[in-house]
Amino acid sequence: MKSLKELYRIGHGPSSSHAVAPGNACLFLKQQYPHLRNVVVTLYESFAYTGKGHLTDKVIIEAFSPIPCEVIFDRQTKTDHPNTFDVVMSLGNETIRRRVVSLGGGAYQVDDPHWQTPQTIYPHHRLTDILNYCQSNQITLPQYVERFEGPSIWSFLEKIWQQMQTTILEGISTEGILPGTLKVVRKAKTLYNAVMMHNTPEVHQNRLISAYAFAVNEVNAAGGLVVTAPTCGASGTMPALLKYVVDRDEIPEKKVLEGLAVGGLIGNLIKHNASISGAEAGCQAEVGSACSMAAATYAYLLNMSMNQIEYAAEVAMEHHLGLTCDPIQGYVQIPCIERNAMAALRAMDAAQLAHVIADSRKISFDLIVDTMYQTGKDMDRKYRETSKGGLAKKYRVS
Ligand code: SF4
Repeated sequence: MKSLKELYRIGHGPSSSHAVAPGNACLFLKQQYPHLRNVVVTLYESFAYTGKGHLTDKVIIEAFSPIPCEVIFDRQTKTDHPNTFDVVMSLGNETIRRRVVSLGGGAYQVDDPHWQTPQTIYPHHRLTDILNYCQSNQITLPQYVERFEGPSIWSFLEKIWQQMQTTILEGISTEGILPGTLKVVRKAKTLYNAVMMHNTPEVHQNRLISAYAFAVNEVNAAGGLVVTAPTCGASGTMPALLKYVVDRDEIPEKKVLEGLAVGGLIGNLIKHNASISGAEAGCQAEVGSACSMAAATYAYLLNMSMNQIEYAAEVAMEHHLGLTCDPIQGYVQIPCIERNAMAALRAMDAAQLAHVIADSRKISFDLIVDTMYQTGKDMDRKYRETSKGGLAKKYRVS
């Protein structure tokens, strides 16, 4: 598995796979070929279907600017990976063609001789092996992360936590309509203000967590800065629950960063063994993964055992199996924003369930990750970030 620094990324919304990764890949190519005259980019499959709503064309043109760049949406050509685009670069007397694949969560690869794949730094790839290693070496999960990442992981996670809080603050203090034709009204501030008016504990808890999740996902939908946790579309779940529990229990920052490390490990395992890409495995891979990460983090912050942490992550993923990706008109707004809030609430429930019944469980986290990936592969193509099925097909803009 690769570093957590390859999982948590700070970047502009609305999509890590459709905006952050294409933008960074094009910046990489621009740097390698400084004498570019003009560029033609052809988007395939999921990029071609949802690229407009996800602002893919806009970020690509911005990345190559001021070099003239044309973006073509090719909905006929099939590719091995659903998030693929080709870049044809004219250098005057030479034309170079490169293929870019976006792997989810902002990760990408380019078939260019200058491209270097990020290094694998963890020796274990299954949670069972990690837990066995921790037990035989008598270390905790955060200590495991530090052992392979080095101590610099903590200053990195500190920046990640700061950005998560900044995004929440921005979201709960902003009103108005989100960009795009859906005219979605921002609701985070309304939800947050409602918390101030009602003091019933359940109402307070649910609305506050929801307000935080809406805040992050509305900032994301507006193209603001978020942390991929593990993706932009699923960026609200983890910070929402984290902010809520940190404020409620006055958790010290060191422990918060350790919680982020535990959640990151869960996200990393899903990314390595399955997928965190909606285009590859549906929303179960995005919001399901975010819920699993948040549940593990919450369980860690409440001092649960490794067994309970594993079960919390497993339960959270198990009950997202089959969740489709069907963003209306390709905007990361409906159902994405509300879905993050529901996942944050669900993550807390999963951890609370794990607290009591983890010892008698039958399903392991590793098994549920394998199941999620297989379910994603079996899922009809239209439910994997094409905006051709589900709500995206049924809903008509009035
Ligand atoms: S439905 Fe889920 S996977 Fe699809 S764009 Fe929205 S958040 Fe991402």
